Amino acid sequence: MKMTTRRKALFLVVLVLVILITSSGCGIKAIEGKPLPTVSKTTPRPIASLPPVVKEMHAYFLDVGQGDSILLVSPNDKTMLIDAGTSKSYEIIQDKLQELEIEKLDCVIATHPHADHIGSMTSIIENYEIESFYLPECDTETKTYANMMNALDEKDIEYQYLYANLEVPWDEEVEVRVLSPVQGVNYGAIINNYSIMLHITYGETSMLLAGDAEKKAEQKVLETFESIQADVLKAGHHGSDTSSTRDFIEAVSPELVIISVGADNKYDHPSKKTMDLFEELGIQVMRTDLDGTIHLIFSGLGYKVAEELEEVEE
Ligand SMILES: [Zn+2]
Repeated sequence: MKMTTRRKALFLVVLVLVILITSSGCGIKAIEGKPLPTVSKTTPRPIASLPPVVKEMHAYFLDVGQGDSILLVSPNDKTMLIDAGTSKSYEIIQDKLQELEIEKLDCVIATHPHADHIGSMTSIIENYEIESFYLPECDTETKTYANMMNALDEKDIEYQYLYANLEVPWDEEVEVRVLSPVQGVNYGAIINNYSIMLHITYGETSMLLAGDAEKKAEQKVLETFESIQADVLKAGHHGSDTSSTRDFIEAVSPELVIISVGADNKYDHPSKKTMDLFEELGIQVMRTDLDGTIHLIFSGLGYKVAEELEEVEE
């Protein structure tokens, strides 16, 4: 009985305190009778500290089947087309350019003169205004290559060879550095090794586009550059095991790998060996044959895959 009375008394005291605390704006102040300094929880933010408008860089890895075509739009709306897919890719590239209302290409790069990279380049040259055109020093005796060079001549577009360590002027906020080919190196008969390899940095994010560069070119890049780390890697040569050597992939150490490849291609790209390596190293892989055109958005602080993936072309 005694305990019960005590409990009741205690309960009453607590109840009174609770009422006092909850009924006044600041309970402690009411009890202690002296005001506490008031702290506003919503301190207005001075205008100067408002976040700046985020300018984005966009990368579209176009689904051109067994080939490469990458469209970049810089934070200040400069455009860059890296490769133009196969001879059947023109419409795909044109559709994307139309959708984005792009009529002028500030920079066009033909990574190397193979038909799955420059297949529709002649049509691009004929139909678009091009500010700067770049290619590797690697003359090839193919009709596709001759047509491309003739189209450049006819439109009076000057072209420039690219070599490792050069920087491609594009957008003042983006660094476009050439990693390969290294000038003066004889890469032998494998044209893929003459591929222009690019390291693109925007703010704290970066991307490495490897063209079709194979082992020998990767090795030269490792010998030439101290650091080639990048958040995103466009794997060399459609995920073939002639590229993506372990040393090279570990040096790039990407979070995400993009493979530009056609469904059921006759080369069996990407190779199982390469896919196993990416898996072992915990690298996320996206493929144009499975994901369609892949659209990445870089904010300068990070990047994301744009949500609406486009439908895979049948
Ligand atoms: Zn290729």
